Amino acid sequence: MASLDVEALTVRFGERSVLDAVDLSVAERETVCVLGPSGGGKSTLLRAVAGLQAVDAGRVRVAGRDQAGVPAHRRDLGLMFQDHQLFPQRDVAGNVAFGLRMRGASRARAAARVAELLELVGLPGAGRRAVASLSGGEQQRVALARALAPEPRLLMLDEPLGQLDRGLRERLVVELRELFERLGTTVLAVTHDQGEAFALAHRVAVMRDGRIAQSGTPSEVWQRPASAFVARFLGFDN
Ligand code: ADP
Ligand code: MG
Repeated sequence: MASLDVEALTVRFGERSVLDAVDLSVAERETVCVLGPSGGGKSTLLRAVAGLQAVDAGRVRVAGRDQAGVPAHRRDLGLMFQDHQLFPQRDVAGNVAFGLRMRGASRARAAARVAELLELVGLPGAGRRAVASLSGGEQQRVALARALAPEPRLLMLDEPLGQLDRGLRERLVVELRELFERLGTTVLAVTHDQGEAFALAHRVAVMRDGRIAQSGTPSEVWQRPASAFVARFLGFDN
C-alpha cells in the first residue's frame, strides 16, 4: 500500500492554479523529492498534504486513509517548514522535544532523544542555547531535528538543507539517507537544488508551474529528460 497518495490535487489562488491536478505517490519507506524552480508550487503542495492549505479539488490519502476533513494536528506526518518556524521562547532542546512530549514521552526519554538528534544534525550539546542566538543554518538543523524527533510515519521536508554550507550539506544528505533507511521513514522532500534531490531521493518528480513535468529515478530523469524544460533545468544546453 502506498503511504502517500496525492490525486489530481488542485489549489488556486484567485485565477491561478498554483497546483494543477498534481498526481504523486510515495511508497512506504521510499524517499521522493519534488524538484523545481522557485514559485512552482512545492511549498504549497506540502502545506496542502499537511492540511495547512485548503484545496480546491483532488484527494490526499495517507496509508490509504482519505485526509479530507482531517485537521492538520491529527495527520500522521511531520513537516519541516522552509522558514523553520521554531518556537522563539523555547530553547533548542525545548524545540526538539516538543513533539515527543506532546506524544507522551517521559522527560528522561525525550532528553536522551534530543541529545541523539542534536548530535546527528551537528549541534551536540546545544540544547540549552536560545533559538535567537543561532545562525540561520543552525536554526535549520534544529528544525530538522524537531521534525525527525517523533519519527512520523510520513516526513515532509521543505528545502531541508537549503541554508547549510556545502560540507555540512553533503555530510547530512548521506546521514539522512541512512537514518531514513534505518527508521523505515517515508519521506516527501521538496527542493530547488538538484544535487540535494538526486542524492537524497529514490525517486524525483520535477515540478513546474504547479504540474509534475516528469518523475522517475534520479538516473532515469538525468539520462532521459522528458522535455526541454527538464533538460534546461538540469543544466543541459538543449
Ligand atoms: P515554491 O515552494 O515552489 O517556491 P510556492 O508553493 O511557495 O512555490 O508558491 C507557488 C506560487 O504560489 C508562487 O507564485 C506564490 O507567490 C504563490 N502563493 C503561495 N502562497 C500563496 C498565497 N497564500 N496566496 C497567494 N499566492 C500564493
Ligand atoms: Mg518553497
